[in-house]
Amino acid sequence: MFNFKEETEVLSEKTLVEIKAQFDEAERVKAVVQRRMLTAFIENGVSSSHFGGTTGYGYDDRGRDVLDSVAARVFGTESALFRHTFASGTHTITVALFALLRPGDGLLYATGTPYDTLHKAIGKKGDGTGSLADFGVNYEEIGLLNGEVDLEKLGERCHSGEVQVVALQRSCGYSDRPSLSVEKLEKVAQFVKSIDPKIYVFIDNCYGEFVEEKEPVTGVDLLAGSLIKNPGGGIASGGGYLAGTKKAVEKAAFRATVPGIGAEIGMTAHMLRELYLGFYFAPGVVCEAVKSAIFASRLFENLGFTVRPNFTEKRTDILLSVDTNSPSALASICEGIQAASPIDSFATPIAAPMPGYDSDVIMAAGAFTSGSSIELSCDGPMRPPYTAYLQGGLNFEASRLAILGAMERLQRD
Ligand SMILES: *Cc1c(COP(=O)(O)O)cnc(C)c1O
Repeated sequence: MFNFKEETEVLSEKTLVEIKAQFDEAERVKAVVQRRMLTAFIENGVSSSHFGGTTGYGYDDRGRDVLDSVAARVFGTESALFRHTFASGTHTITVALFALLRPGDGLLYATGTPYDTLHKAIGKKGDGTGSLADFGVNYEEIGLLNGEVDLEKLGERCHSGEVQVVALQRSCGYSDRPSLSVEKLEKVAQFVKSIDPKIYVFIDNCYGEFVEEKEPVTGVDLLAGSLIKNPGGGIASGGGYLAGTKKAVEKAAFRATVPGIGAEIGMTAHMLRELYLGFYFAPGVVCEAVKSAIFASRLFENLGFTVRPNFTEKRTDILLSVDTNSPSALASICEGIQAASPIDSFATPIAAPMPGYDSDVIMAAGAFTSGSSIELSCDGPMRPPYTAYLQGGLNFEASRLAILGAMERLQRD
């Protein structure tokens, strides 16, 4: 395995030299976040007795409550819910939106069309599914203007009294817009609050956690993300988190379980040890994933592809997109990544319809955790420009081998 051509090794070495400064920056961020993580564990007195777990209602689950406060400390928020009971990132986000909105209220996405899986959760009036629209929530979105939130339009809408939640998506997801940095997100949040402090600001933080020194919290009411992405550290086998103000997190807890009971119930079974361990590992694992993305970005750029972001751009998420401009090139890259995965290396990815996505999707994922995208994975919707989205990587060296394998397959096919 991995007997690459001479030219491949030479290109890899050249690329590694070119990206040295970006790797140093990724290590610097990791050091800052890991220090905060360790501090949070110590300050909260995490003990092996917190790993025991509960059954039934899960009343007085000390391990669960301490984990919530460790998460709040790390995210820099007043409060958090860090739970295996969230079924996915989309579920977590949906709980947050239903928690903050009431019939007749308005939800405004200020970063353009949200991630595909949210379209059905937002829904259409009278769709009968129990979507936000079905419950009488009005929806509107404002597209980015030159890669930035359009503050003029956002300001107008915030003055109208018709908007109760402004939602911002940090990562680009399956779109060709840039991802938004923590600094930019906080500026927008503070802008909204300066117009009307009663408007809730919600951030879909998926793929962004621990890529920068801090998370977007100033002016923000609630953050959401998935535990099979960054904050699960590749160890959590499922779940999601919400972090934010005491008030917003309490509303979300009332929605996630029962109004009036909220975070006081929710059994943890045998899940706590892996959630603590995964979270503890997350800064290091995210650093490996960031390095994988930087390496692939420069490598594919050296091959003449259009990549987003370029390796010199400041990163705020673990995603890399490569426009392949052909269905077969997209498939070759996915096949190469799959063939170099630790799990299911023998499988061949084939494009197929996916629940929640508007077009067929091809996915390479040889992961320990099904569907995990903090593990090296590559996928893309089968529509022009046949963009390959590459993300994750539990350790950089394994990612490097997979990326070089994908490159050789692309050149061969
Ligand atoms: C992954 C993702 C989601 C949805 O998470 P799932 O766990 O796939 O449901 C939402 N928004 C963004 C930006 C994401 O990357």
